[in-house]
Amino acid sequence: MHACDLCHQLVGEPSTVPPHENLAASGIGARSNRCKVDSRWRCTGCGAWMYQSTALGEPPNMWRMGRPPADLTESCG
Ligand SMILES: [Zn+2]
Repeated sequence: MHACDLCHQLVGEPSTVPPHENLAASGIGARSNRCKVDSRWRCTGCGAWMYQSTALGEPPNMWRMGRPPADLTESCG
């Protein structure tokens, strides 16, 4: 997968940085007790999945690029 420059630039940024213009909201990630761990975004330009982590995410409070989402089964810390 070849992510576009906009996606690459967002990786590693604090999650307080807003999503770039080509990212479409694609739901949230949450653990079994509904603790939200991230917001999921799909790039309409390159198709990359971007994850905007909360404090419970991994890494916390940061943007990362990842594989298409799978269900989380872990329990919250
Ligand atoms: Zn992109």
